[in-house]
Amino acid sequence: MIEQNLCMSCYKPINNPICESCKIEELLSLLAGYPIFIKTKIEVIKKIRRHLQRETLENDALCIICGKNTLSICSNCFMLIAAKAFKDVDLNREIMGQFLYSFGRQISNRRTT
Ligand SMILES: [Zn+2]
Ligand SMILES: [Zn+2]
Repeated sequence: MIEQNLCMSCYKPINNPICESCKIEELLSLLAGYPIFIKTKIEVIKKIRRHLQRETLENDALCIICGKNTLSICSNCFMLIAAKAFKDVDLNREIMGQFLYSFGRQISNRRTT
């Protein structure tokens, strides 16, 4: 039996099994170290959540961090959504670039294999 967890957005297999709420948690904890207003952070998270709620696919595998939620989106698509959200709130481009770079590295280091 092949277990494949597909991303709800690009329909490619998800290769690092972290659910969207854990991704948001990671994003928040990393964001804490950046000089960004709390108000802006809250706005960014709200926008990300709104983008994520549009559709869901039924995947079986559970998140490797919380072990509770199933997977729905790959890291690439999550990053795209995050970048869009940052743009929406007019975040300084330099900060945004730095942030997305370290966030991408952080979540890809969570790979299980
Ligand atoms: Zn995807
Ligand atoms: Zn999780």
